[in-house]
Amino acid sequence: MDIYENARREAEARFAAGWRPSNLLGKENPKIKKAEKMNWKGLGLSLAPADISGFEVCASRSPECTKHCIFTSGRGAANFTRKDGSHPVWWGRIFRTIWWFRARDEFKAQLHKEISRNQGAAIRLNVYSDIQWERQFPEIASDFPDTQFYDYTKHFNRMFRERPDNYHLTFSLHENNQSQTRDVLQAGMNVAAVTDKIGGTLFGYNVIDGDDHDLRFLDPSPCVVGLRAKGSLKKDRNKDMVYETGTGTETVELVPEAA
Ligand code: SF4
Repeated sequence: MDIYENARREAEARFAAGWRPSNLLGKENPKIKKAEKMNWKGLGLSLAPADISGFEVCASRSPECTKHCIFTSGRGAANFTRKDGSHPVWWGRIFRTIWWFRARDEFKAQLHKEISRNQGAAIRLNVYSDIQWERQFPEIASDFPDTQFYDYTKHFNRMFRERPDNYHLTFSLHENNQSQTRDVLQAGMNVAAVTDKIGGTLFGYNVIDGDDHDLRFLDPSPCVVGLRAKGSLKKDRNKDMVYETGTGTETVELVPEAA
């Protein structure tokens, strides 16, 4: 039995009983909450990463990103498990993932309804997942042109496919996609990387502070969005995942992203 077995069982039982949450989108994630200081309303959809729910939602994940996924940080930490073995955050995220896979039309209708009430917000649909929403649910961006969608992604081809103007993507570096990362940067787009410090350069591109807020669509391009190690990676300091920045001698000029 893996540690998520109880949460999966609870989510499945509630789903089968017809229970549904009143909201899919939340603003409790501390980083998404930082949107407020930039005068944006930030909202996120938190699913269960990898195949924790029994369904794969991160098809381009790597062994190290799976191991250090921040799903189990903050309120998702294992020590929030209750005495009866349940974990409210885990089963909630697993529930939403099951809902997406088992009753897609119903899930889409709920998400559509919530976005219609939050037009003008900045919405991250993959807080702990990497679903290609613009392909799976294309109406979502076209129906709400005043809503700004953004995601981090490990799908290389997704970066180069045509997508709606209001859907911004930042590529995500892990331990074995460096050559794809260079291609993304050379094409003028941004890459998020866990770095040993903020500032200096990586692959010859400026490293900006990606923890200050989460509104990646406001970043200049091309650049590396430096993130500090969090969760298990903070203790592990795995050299394959935490990238050492350069001296800054190779800096390139940053051009603000077009609105
Ligand atoms: S792709 Fe992202 S969300 Fe999925 S396991 Fe890796 S770090 Fe977690």
